[in-house]
Amino acid sequence: MLIYNTLTRQKEYFKPIHEGHVGMYVCGPTVYGDAHLGHARPAITFDLLFRYLQFLGYKVRYVRNITDVGHLEHDADQGEDKIAKKARLEQLEPMEVVQFYTNRYHHDMEALNVLPPSIEPHASGHIIEQIAFVQRILDHGYAYVANGSVYMDVEKFAKDFPYGKLSGRNLQDIVTETRELDGQEEKKHSYDFALWKKAAPEHIMHWPSPWSEGFPGWHMECSTMGTKYLGEEFDIHGGGMDLMFPHHEAEIAQSCAALGHDSVHYWMHNNMITIAGKKMGKSYNNFITLEQFFKGEHPLLTKPFSPMTIRFFILMAHYRSTVDFSSEALEAAEKGFNRLQETFARLQKLQPDNKTSNEIEDIKSLRSKCQEAMDDDLNSPIVLQALFDSARVINTIHDKKASISSEDLEELKKTWKDFAIDILGLRLDNDDMSTDNAQSAAKQQAYNGAVDLLLDIRLDAKRNKDWATSDKIRNNLTALGFQIKDTKDGYEWSL
Ligand code: ZN
Repeated sequence: MLIYNTLTRQKEYFKPIHEGHVGMYVCGPTVYGDAHLGHARPAITFDLLFRYLQFLGYKVRYVRNITDVGHLEHDADQGEDKIAKKARLEQLEPMEVVQFYTNRYHHDMEALNVLPPSIEPHASGHIIEQIAFVQRILDHGYAYVANGSVYMDVEKFAKDFPYGKLSGRNLQDIVTETRELDGQEEKKHSYDFALWKKAAPEHIMHWPSPWSEGFPGWHMECSTMGTKYLGEEFDIHGGGMDLMFPHHEAEIAQSCAALGHDSVHYWMHNNMITIAGKKMGKSYNNFITLEQFFKGEHPLLTKPFSPMTIRFFILMAHYRSTVDFSSEALEAAEKGFNRLQETFARLQKLQPDNKTSNEIEDIKSLRSKCQEAMDDDLNSPIVLQALFDSARVINTIHDKKASISSEDLEELKKTWKDFAIDILGLRLDNDDMSTDNAQSAAKQQAYNGAVDLLLDIRLDAKRNKDWATSDKIRNNLTALGFQIKDTKDGYEWSL
């Protein structure tokens, strides 16, 4: 499998450190508000990777953290902790805020069919490890203590290691980009970032440390928890492109300073979602939470959109390209997703024949097309295109213009299940048969059979000119929400 490594800026063959095993770390949410569309993209991108690696047979340890301390309001170094601020405003314990939004985040992720990670560590649960990590950096001489806070000595570090290599910045770029903030006087340079911050008296989240009663800098948690659970060197680190600088650059610096080497073999970054060409943000009034999407409650939305429409919309673009959101684009995605669902339903009802007609192209080519696309840096839009292309074959068989052998039909169904349901993670049946749940599959089959039975009775009634029975079945089923279409040789129905 080829993946694009942001660090080397090229596609590379993926080779894990330990054969058959993959360690991957993805920066998770800061839990002080509801998840929005910008959270959905990294979650779905790395869910796609997680699912595909497992499909390829790897045993994957997927760590996605919860940032619940140290992510400050204004910049990485200054200002008030976002969670502490929310807690103060709402008169809650900070951990109540954390739990509340963590629960809501999980709920949204489940709706989007994003699999839970193997480990979901909280920054606040790893203070001791973070203090030890900071100490190692101090011991190696790449940090200094000032007024109870500990700062990374970026200039000293940059003499021994390349600082800025991930984002392609040099120290001069960083100097000009860094805003002067209050409290800068205790740092040697404006670009030095906090590894540990002494808490101001009004700061409610703080822990004892050798340097002060305080809290870790935001970047510290990912270096610490990544290496704690995945080892000092691990395979993949992912996140949104917006995290590349300063967050991931700082992570690399911290790991090199503490361990003497990089921790991550492949850096992967998903591109951003814009709204009408603009970055999403509270100040633009284009900040739409996932719940608002699901309920259609935002002035920019024409209607509610299902979680699967959102997932499909995100998968329609390659993860490294930008996606511009508009209600129209989502409506188009909804149509596409419905078409995929209808094709899947039709595929389940196909009846096999003795042999596959010559005019049907090799069924196996669908699988290889999908696999090639996934092997080429997770090219989900090509997989979707291949599935749509196979709809033509499915329709031809459905219209009885061609036949398919039971062996080929099984292969076709298996390919759809593998790629559409298991890898792309699309719930194509309303009843969520995707979990390989035999019981729910059996229920679905019984349900389809019962509806078919009623419609068969209606067909007999029509042939016998028993219009009362025929109308009764049709009207009652319609009232229950079924759509019944009479066709040349029978009927079609959908719910
Ligand atoms: Zn992180």
